[in-house]
Amino acid sequence: MNHSDSERISSSLEKQGYKPASKIDEAGLIVVNMCSIRQSAVDRVYGLAFNLKKLKPGVKTILTGCILNKDKNKFLKNFNFVLDINDFLKTENYLRIRPKYSNNFSALVPISDGCNNFCSYCVVPFTRGPLVCRDHEEILKEIENIIKKGFKEIWLLGQNVNDYVSPSDANINFAKLLKLTDDLSENIWIRFTSPHPQYFSNELIEVIARSKNITPYLNLPVQSGDDKILKKMKRPYSVSDYKRLVKKIRNKIPSIVLSTDVIVGFPGETKQEFQNTVKLFEEIKFDMAYISKYSPRSGTSAEKMQDNVSQEEKDKRREILTEILRKTALASNKKYIGKIIDVLIMKHKEGVLMGKSRDYKTVKFQGTENQIGKLVKVEIIDALSWGLKGKSSTEK
Ligand code: SAH
Ligand code: SF4
Repeated sequence: MNHSDSERISSSLEKQGYKPASKIDEAGLIVVNMCSIRQSAVDRVYGLAFNLKKLKPGVKTILTGCILNKDKNKFLKNFNFVLDINDFLKTENYLRIRPKYSNNFSALVPISDGCNNFCSYCVVPFTRGPLVCRDHEEILKEIENIIKKGFKEIWLLGQNVNDYVSPSDANINFAKLLKLTDDLSENIWIRFTSPHPQYFSNELIEVIARSKNITPYLNLPVQSGDDKILKKMKRPYSVSDYKRLVKKIRNKIPSIVLSTDVIVGFPGETKQEFQNTVKLFEEIKFDMAYISKYSPRSGTSAEKMQDNVSQEEKDKRREILTEILRKTALASNKKYIGKIIDVLIMKHKEGVLMGKSRDYKTVKFQGTENQIGKLVKVEIIDALSWGLKGKSSTEK
């Protein structure tokens, strides 16, 4: 989402006559688009601000993005301007700004912004505000244009992407929008993030199962494998609800690749409660997981709870989950050995290309930089926990 915001900031500045600088020390204006989801992200901006001070005099600096009110004044010491993203772009709905896509193969399309959920640990409803949805006609127009330009994949983005309802037609929910998007093309990869388990309807599962373009990859954040912690997090589902949902999804979409988000060391999380998350990881066998250590955020309701799990214990818990994930991801990845799969090449480094399969597995293989953005066939010759190794490629 932040990346997509940056694309909109770029296009807005270019419209005003600015040109991108090739190096940071050649820039006359530096815009930093920050995230406040965890304290570590905020600390990185403090580090960056320190380095900006060393740049040539006269450079103007703007800090924007998700900024907590309590941090705004502090950052004013380091930046010339500190602005909410909506103020920065001076429009009543910045999602309307046509972005400057940062490449010509993978397009980020925000369909909504903000969130009404107020999970007890989360700053998003404070920094981004309540849920605001874009009109479906406007989204579909942007997507038609992306398809015409020959992009290979589209990401539909929202903080809580499946809580979407079109402002001009209450019938168009996320499942319907996804179906309308799917109908626009014969061959484009459609991805979306992040869905909330509570809003994952049967209708949505059916749309994905029957679609031609929606890729079989799902990031379904669980946050904890313990009912008491989920309640304290204000996540409105139980562990058995989540397991039932996963079972239903796997039944209808057998090829689905599943990842999750989880927080370890939430205030008061006991060893036994954490053990329930361990059990869930062992049972579900995720392909991937984004494991965060709990970080108290100003203004949230969890801030009032005592952050009483030590850093060492949080590290330990994260490592335990990572260890399980290593095994389950490796077992899942081994199934690809010997297969030839389609890979969209995203990056190149020192003779090695990195791409993503249709089901969002990371694939590495040898190749040249000019292949970035191409869709190629890759033979999988080895599997690691965090990705697949491939051999030779042919352009599709
Ligand atoms: N809307 C998504 C999550 C968006 S935030 C959802 O409902 O799940 C992205 C991830 O950051 C979350 O899934 C969570 O795992 C992590 N996160 C958010 N707040 C956090 C906090 N205070 N401490 C640690 N991790 C946090
Ligand atoms: Fe934050 Fe996601 Fe909860 Fe919204 S649903 S408050 S974005 S964690």
